[in-house]
Amino acid sequence: EPIIRCFNVSKWYENLCALKKINLDICTGEFVFITGPSGAGKSTLLKILYLDETASEGQIVVDGMNLARISKARMPYLRRRLGVVFQDFKLIPNRTVYENVALVLEVAGVKKSLIRQKVLQVLRITGMTRKIHALPPTLSGGEQQRVAFARAVVGEPAIIIADEPTGSLDHDSARIIFNLLVKYNDKGVTILIASHNLHLINNTNRGRHIHLTNGELQLM
Ligand code: ADP
Ligand code: ADP
Repeated sequence: EPIIRCFNVSKWYENLCALKKINLDICTGEFVFITGPSGAGKSTLLKILYLDETASEGQIVVDGMNLARISKARMPYLRRRLGVVFQDFKLIPNRTVYENVALVLEVAGVKKSLIRQKVLQVLRITGMTRKIHALPPTLSGGEQQRVAFARAVVGEPAIIIADEPTGSLDHDSARIIFNLLVKYNDKGVTILIASHNLHLINNTNRGRHIHLTNGELQLM
């Protein structure tokens, strides 16, 4: 059954129409690639889904919640159902790897001993344990993205939304991040990834591929 439903979703920035009547259902456990040229509306669609932008028109239901009608009080709950990964990592530079990942759970009010257990677990999964006390600027891009990935999954989200997660990484680092997405998809997490990396897309036999051009969706 769909975990994300978009009905006739449009988005304007002033006079610029970034998304035109998007209709899209994504089922629980799906792995979906969104491709399309720069400016096609990929980031805008993802931002709407992770609550960073609002749609100008249309209806969106994420994990059973209608984004247009969701109460302020319920927003934090919905945000915790989503893990977001960005091209430029967005780590806090003057906080350690541990602190960057732990922050998500601290904000959610999880108790300290459980935070420690969960943070150590995701750092083990992402292979970043030995950098636990490092500050992000001392890490390579690939390592920073592994930390950002750990942060995205530490709250056990139902959906991972990744906007060009391998866009600034070398091939080997990109492969590591992609394999982590596949691993979480195997656990049942729904994955939505905007990517230009056709090499990765073509080298996996997993996933649905949808294409945006000029704000219009083409199912492939
Ligand atoms: P993509 O991610 O596919 O490169 P975007 O969603 O970033 O595309 O952008 C879609 C269109 O919307 C582009 O024409 C872009 O310039 C425009 N756009 C994106 N964000 C904004 C914004 N905050 N204000 C005005 N225009 C924007
Ligand atoms: P992406 O392709 O990943 O969206 P961009 O470099 O196009 O990255 O955009 C970077 C940021 O600038 C985004 O947050 C986007 O919302 C904003 N942006 C993009 N186009 C415009 C625009 N025409 N006017 C204002 N902000 C924009």
